[in-house]
Amino acid sequence: MDIDQLFSKKNLFSSKKALVFYIDNISDVILGLDSNLNIIYANKSFCRLMVCEKKDLINKKLDTFLDKQSIAKLLLICKPESEISFKTDLVFRANNSAEKWLSLTIHNFKKGFIIIGKDFTEEKVKNLERNEEIGKIEEEKARSQEILDSIGDGVVSVNDKGEIVYVNHQAVDILGFQQEEILGELMWRKIIMYGPDNKEVSVEKRPIRLALFSRNRIYENTYFYKSKDGRLVPVSVTATPLIVHNLVVGGVDVFRDITKEREIDKMKTEFISLASHQLRTPLSATKWFAELLMDDAKILNAEQYELIGNIYKSNQRMIDLVNSLLNISRIESGRIIIDPKPTDLRKLVEDVITELKVKINEKKHNVTLTVSGDLPTVNIDPRLIRNVYMNLLTNSIKYTREKGEIRVDISKQGEDVVSKVSDNGLGIPNSQKQRIFEKFFRSSNITKVETDGSGLGLYLAKAIVESSGGKIWFESEEYKGSEFWFTLPMSGTPAKKGEVSID
Ligand code: ADP
Repeated sequence: MDIDQLFSKKNLFSSKKALVFYIDNISDVILGLDSNLNIIYANKSFCRLMVCEKKDLINKKLDTFLDKQSIAKLLLICKPESEISFKTDLVFRANNSAEKWLSLTIHNFKKGFIIIGKDFTEEKVKNLERNEEIGKIEEEKARSQEILDSIGDGVVSVNDKGEIVYVNHQAVDILGFQQEEILGELMWRKIIMYGPDNKEVSVEKRPIRLALFSRNRIYENTYFYKSKDGRLVPVSVTATPLIVHNLVVGGVDVFRDITKEREIDKMKTEFISLASHQLRTPLSATKWFAELLMDDAKILNAEQYELIGNIYKSNQRMIDLVNSLLNISRIESGRIIIDPKPTDLRKLVEDVITELKVKINEKKHNVTLTVSGDLPTVNIDPRLIRNVYMNLLTNSIKYTREKGEIRVDISKQGEDVVSKVSDNGLGIPNSQKQRIFEKFFRSSNITKVETDGSGLGLYLAKAIVESSGGKIWFESEEYKGSEFWFTLPMSGTPAKKGEVSID
């Protein structure tokens, strides 16, 4: 249909009146301005938008309804010499002072202007709100970034595939890699980790990978990160999975350089070692003199003999404590020699029981040893493992009331030799079970009954079992008894060169 047809009698705009009606009621805004930018026509849409009557608009300058910036814009573009038609966005201020955003096409008729426009206030407000939200998110992000960069720990965040998506400044400082060198790289390929044995930690054992796969927080403080320049940095690592709507979407590896702690620990161990060494000489002398006196029974009366006996026992307790401290400092310093030999465990335990005979008889305990028939010799360091049996059996003897039942069961289970030392003694309270292998820990139920003890035996036993490639654990019920278990690999313990052995 061409324009003549549109205005013909049969059609919609058959009269000017119909056209005016249409223009007046259309949803678009239509304005007529004279060359001085006074409003000479405004349709109903514009009136509605401005919340006023037509008569309030006519002959008013359009400026009256615009914000400052829009006035400047209008004056710049609405000139008789401007183009015939151009587009612009202006901000109008309605009678109720609401802001209205209009997208306009301005037609220049030289003697005036016709403006046709659309209200896009709603869209604009939504955009502004969205921008505000984005601004807030960006601000939040910047703040989190600031926090992550200002904390003393290194932080590396990975996606669910293990690719690095974030590294903070501290991590860059510790690892020596620039952010751009590691972003996007697989964490366990790019940042190499070493174990306490100076061997590279396998991918499966990397804390961050374990965290992603197990969905648990993993803590590790015996590993090293290899920095870009090849230095091994001892670190304490906490790897945490990021779980959103029950899906693992990534993980965060937070680590701290513990070089200083290690040094202090080493100094402490060296101090204990030195002090214990120095203490041993006078203690041995006291023991020797006490023995000398007791051997020569004639020179002592009964009371004196008993007193010297007490000195001897107290001195022996002190010797045991100093030996425990010395053994611990040796094992902690990593200087311990592991010298495996094919060992008959039955014989080893029988010897320990014989050595403990006096104490066993004193308390009238019944001690039994059972070894599963087909147990071959195992290649372990007998001096070290003897210490484990000695500690476990001494505990059972000490922490079981008279006439107790104490058992040692040794059997082959799969790839391991499993030893169980059990008793029907005082047991361990539930609330203290998790602390049993801690250095110097003694449970409250036994400290009243048995004062003799340092809380070092199990710590040492655990260190020995683990450095021999085994595991140690226990089950216990207060007043019913305890079962201590430990494993040793049938394949034996690898030899280790060192400087010291255990007493
Ligand atoms: P301690 O020198 O005190 O015996 P250990 O390190 O050998 O030190 O043991 C730590 C603590 O574990 C003991 O003090 C005791 O509370 C508890 N414990 C160990 N073995 C037993 C056991 N067989 N029965 C009951 N409690 C035990």
